[in-house]
Amino acid sequence: MIYADNASTTKMSITAINAMLPYFDNIYGNPSSLYAFGQEAKEALEDCRARVAACLNCEPREITFTSGGSEADNQAIISAARFGAKKGKKHIISTAFEHHAVLHTLKALEKEGFEITLLDVHTTGLVTPEQVRDAIRDDTCLVTIMFANNEIGTVEPIKEIAEVCREKKVVFHTDAVQAVGHVKVDVQEQNIDMLSISAHKFHGPKGVGVLYAKKGIPLTSVINGGAQERGKRAGTENIAGIAGMTAALEEACKNIDENAAKTIPLRDRLIAGLDKIPYGELNGTLEKRLPGNVNFCFEGIEGESLLLLLDDKGVCASSGSACTSGSLDPSHVLLAIGRPHEVAHGSLRLTINEEFTEKDIDYIIEAVTDVVTYLRNMSPFWRDLVNGARPHVFAK
Ligand SMILES: *Cc1c(COP(=O)(O)O)cnc(C)c1O
Repeated sequence: MIYADNASTTKMSITAINAMLPYFDNIYGNPSSLYAFGQEAKEALEDCRARVAACLNCEPREITFTSGGSEADNQAIISAARFGAKKGKKHIISTAFEHHAVLHTLKALEKEGFEITLLDVHTTGLVTPEQVRDAIRDDTCLVTIMFANNEIGTVEPIKEIAEVCREKKVVFHTDAVQAVGHVKVDVQEQNIDMLSISAHKFHGPKGVGVLYAKKGIPLTSVINGGAQERGKRAGTENIAGIAGMTAALEEACKNIDENAAKTIPLRDRLIAGLDKIPYGELNGTLEKRLPGNVNFCFEGIEGESLLLLLDDKGVCASSGSACTSGSLDPSHVLLAIGRPHEVAHGSLRLTINEEFTEKDIDYIIEAVTDVVTYLRNMSPFWRDLVNGARPHVFAK
């Protein structure tokens, strides 16, 4: 099997697994307990907090552990919204292609009377600092723009966008779930006020993440209960998960350049191979792109059929199309970059990493080429395109 769906989740690293094990049997105490055994767990928790802070270049007290990226996104946005509303500021700026953890939180705030502006991401999948500057108003309380997109892998000019926000005194949050561990993230150097992370996207365990919030930004609890995490996130801490995440984060950050140097040529080989398929196109700019992301749209193809046939050939991939999740809508990300519905339904996302070989890449290229040809030969829609009854979307 070739697992080419690393944007969806990753295999845990051995280092991360080993870092978790002591907390299942030897050090299972509750960090909130007063006896020494609980204090051992508490020390481990604070050690992890300091190490995570060092990886992001912030202070330990600016780190809150959460149950993952979704919770961190929810808490960041709700906190900034409540903080803003106290000062009568109820306008939020984001983009049309955020993760649903962001978009659905914004929708909920809209129902409460917040006004949301979603910026255009163009055909490149990139937002500009100028767009952000133009959209900021006197009543803007938050700008939330993802660091890197989970479907098309485009990497936004976060430092420049955040600089505009800092100048305008507007809180800036970034969903950095796809970026951390894959491209350089430094909250001080990049002017970031709030940032979300998820461990399972960089070879850590599922169900654990981080919300970084610069000191001075008050957090609102979204999980109410005990006084863990300085009263900002109730619930007994997931120490094993936090230890696994910390080890995975340090490892990913240490090897970031080396991994990118291995992955980028493989990614580009895959893009070049898939580009030979007629009437298909890469989604999102090639220049500002995550090292492991490849995403194509093919005319005359249903994404789901493509995935199932690739699965038969031992390739795990993903499609932007959400039909499998019960909705007939194509990916909001592909629509946001201007892909028409019929093409957005025929998308394929392959997300690789440094462990891939050229042989794996060549196998994927061959498998995708075969499956696309096979599906097109059976498709009445494709026949219409070939005999001119329907216009092509792509030039070649
Ligand atoms: C995976 C992902 C999330 C959600 O993270 P979870 O830990 O799975 O809740 C949020 N944002 C982006 C961009 C993601 O890729």
